[in-house]
Amino acid sequence: MNLEAVIGLEIHVQLNTKTKTFCSCSTGFGAVPNTHTCPVCLGLPGALPVFNRDVLKKGVMAGLALNCTICSYSVFARKNYFYPDLPKAYQISQFEHPLNRAGFVRIKDERGKERSIGITRAHLEEDAGKLVHDDDPKGPSFIDLNRCGMPLLEIVTEPDLRTPDEAYRFLVAVKEILQYTEVSECSMEKGELRVDVNVSLRETGEDAFGVKQEVKNLNSFANVKRALEYEIKRQSRLIRSGERLTQQTRLFDVSKNATVQMRTKESAHDYRYFPDPDLVPIELSPQEIDGIRETLPELPEERRDRIKAQYGLTDYDVEVLCSSHKIARYFEDSARGYKRPKKIANWIHTEVMRALNETGKDIESFAVTPERLRELFEIMDGGVISGKLAKAVFDEMAASGETAAEVVERKGMRQLSDREEIVDVVEAVIRDHAAVTDEYRSGKKKAFGFLVGQVMKRTGGKANPKIVNELLKEKLSNQPGVEDH
Ligand code: ADP
Ligand code: ZN
Ligand code: MG
Repeated sequence: MNLEAVIGLEIHVQLNTKTKTFCSCSTGFGAVPNTHTCPVCLGLPGALPVFNRDVLKKGVMAGLALNCTICSYSVFARKNYFYPDLPKAYQISQFEHPLNRAGFVRIKDERGKERSIGITRAHLEEDAGKLVHDDDPKGPSFIDLNRCGMPLLEIVTEPDLRTPDEAYRFLVAVKEILQYTEVSECSMEKGELRVDVNVSLRETGEDAFGVKQEVKNLNSFANVKRALEYEIKRQSRLIRSGERLTQQTRLFDVSKNATVQMRTKESAHDYRYFPDPDLVPIELSPQEIDGIRETLPELPEERRDRIKAQYGLTDYDVEVLCSSHKIARYFEDSARGYKRPKKIANWIHTEVMRALNETGKDIESFAVTPERLRELFEIMDGGVISGKLAKAVFDEMAASGETAAEVVERKGMRQLSDREEIVDVVEAVIRDHAAVTDEYRSGKKKAFGFLVGQVMKRTGGKANPKIVNELLKEKLSNQPGVEDH
């Protein structure tokens, strides 16, 4: 039996509005539990929700970025269920009439072939609160309702994905699109992006789908991949042994690297969805949708293509630079008006990435702003400092927040370009290394590098390497019997 996996994802993304979906409570992260609450998001009787315009705008932006059709008419519905983190005993969501339908996201598969993954819908809903369990398993559980009413966009895909790796690539692409669109930071640590996976197996070539299992609330893409790999193995073992699967909801246990059953699957009618009588339907005119479309920033695919062409970069450069819209922006700001953008791109891959890792800063709070990075390059090009010293200058800039010029001044790093001064050192080196000098003169060219190194060492790395080379050659060839370099 040759089995093939069929995978569909449900992705919850927190939209980065200032206030909650239906009240003016703050969406700020990490507040004292239950301080960002009010009668509306606590679900107190008589409190009425008022829909936040910014949630709508960001929901539409995300829909457009995911190539969806934006519905001119959408409706909030009550999804009824009881759970301690949901005091209203219903969640406001969208059911029959979602905001966005029928989108797609293009990804590349392992072999670089392009695939289009369908998005069934992307609807708005509010988040629930959070249960906080005591470290002691016998201890109490606490409830934090700050998250109640936070705006979410739930993105549901078609069952178009076929491998765990493809699911991973798709998630990376979706996250990138949402980040570029700036509707969400998508920080998984803060729970701003959560993924449920649905997976079934079928005999390769069959049209009908098998019975799916859902694994809920995965909080990292790596765990999505692991949970899928585990499920595919588990289901294939069951199917091969002739067992009939029943639809289940499972959880991924990180410590066991395995999925465990949570409940048998509930279905839509269990929730008794009905239109929320407290909220009017959302109506959007084509003009309003176009108005929002105009505010969409450049998306990852377009940006990659443009950056590659505009700055003459390689695919690799573009992959690294555009892996984050913030890095891409940093690059473009740094390269603005600079003749050799490729040099800046290389520097960002290596030095900037390293410095960010070392300082634990993100690019937006990084002391070396794009303007300052460009200045460093200009100083380098002007011969004030050598390329080698530039790295040290850059590290100082990152640590102290100074400009390149300030660091060079303070540390006396200015490149030595005075020929008279360098000549003295060159002559001293030739004198002190007579044996090496002789080797060079008898044709051992490698000796030249050693002599250059000695001059650099004596000048504390500050001598202009070009001048050192010229002078050394000149001085060494003053003697007869030396080949030209
Ligand atoms: P439910 O009603 O159980 O929530 P949906 O039809 O809403 O199921 O689909 C939920 C998710 O499961 C979607 O992402 C969809 O693509 C995916 N899905 C549906 N059927 C299957 C299947 N047989 N195997 C894998 N994924 C599936
Ligand atoms: Zn509130
Ligand atoms: Mg569903």
